[in-house]
Amino acid sequence: MAEASGSLTWANIYLTHAKECRILLLMEPKLKAPKTLQEAIVYFSDLDRAHDYAAKLRWPNGKVTCPRCGSDKNYAIRAKTKKGEPRRLWLCRGCDRQFTIKVGTIFEDSALGIDKWMTAFWMLVNCKNGISSMEIHRALGITQKSAWFMLQRLRLALQDDFFGGKMGGPGREIEVDESFIGGKARNMHLSERKRRITGTGGTDKTAVMGILERGGKIRTSVVPTRRKKVLQDEVRKHVTGGTALYSDALLSYEGLATDYAHKVVDHAVQYVDGRVHTNGLENFWSLLKRGISGTYVSVEPFHLFRYLDEQTFRYNNRRDINDGQRFALAMTQVSGKRLTYSELTGKNESPRHEATGTREAAIPF
Ligand SMILES: [Zn+2]
Repeated sequence: MAEASGSLTWANIYLTHAKECRILLLMEPKLKAPKTLQEAIVYFSDLDRAHDYAAKLRWPNGKVTCPRCGSDKNYAIRAKTKKGEPRRLWLCRGCDRQFTIKVGTIFEDSALGIDKWMTAFWMLVNCKNGISSMEIHRALGITQKSAWFMLQRLRLALQDDFFGGKMGGPGREIEVDESFIGGKARNMHLSERKRRITGTGGTDKTAVMGILERGGKIRTSVVPTRRKKVLQDEVRKHVTGGTALYSDALLSYEGLATDYAHKVVDHAVQYVDGRVHTNGLENFWSLLKRGISGTYVSVEPFHLFRYLDEQTFRYNNRRDINDGQRFALAMTQVSGKRLTYSELTGKNESPRHEATGTREAAIPF
């Protein structure tokens, strides 16, 4: 396997679905693949190149497969759109229907070009605190509403599928903690702001839970309450029995010692007791809160898990990987997922993807 290094040029990335982890094998260093946002924008502005890149990540063995019937018998067609722009299509011999690179992915039915999608995705996965719909709107010249919808779809692609099975095991250490995330108060209407700001961890805040393996990955979820059953079910679902487990003194964690080497640090007394602390998760919560407060619009509890998925992806892929590889990894996760506008908002009409001027109507979310 090629070493991941900043100076490596690479275009064709083969993905091996190993049992434990996904390994990106970097091959054919002939074409220069982008390493910075600037390079990415230039690279993906060539639609043929953007298409080839996306296709290689989607079908790493080179066999283009129909997303509808699974047949690999097809041929490429060069068609034109009404505006005279080239359209890249395949005609499937299996089901006799055409498909594009977007069919069967989070990009399906989007009128936005793959170049715009890839640029937005690059920004989302490579900016430490995430990216707001306002920034995407400005960078790509699309409405903020479109940008918001786009980002929510991209967040779906980042969702963890828990590919590696349970966490922990002999010699491993795991931190468990929960936190309350509230809507951002700054841009809210005054009455709403007053309602939300009062109280700590009240009804307006959403409880989130994190399980972090030291030197490994984090898993996060939105939880309905901090009750014992809810939190302990999560721990048992994700952590191998017998693993060293550290938490604060919340009573909901009481009883985990029957299945784990559970040690508690009482935050009323101290935050660190030797190896017993939850500082890794505290760090994650502060990153998450910073990311959410940078979104400019309040995050409704209903959408919170998507921001959690986003921050979790970046956190789990922050080391030993460069921006180009992080982006490539994210691009391997776009297939087999869809999110429509009505699913997302309960509304029927989809925002039209049109370039607008500087005047933006207030977005309804
Ligand atoms: Zn087919």
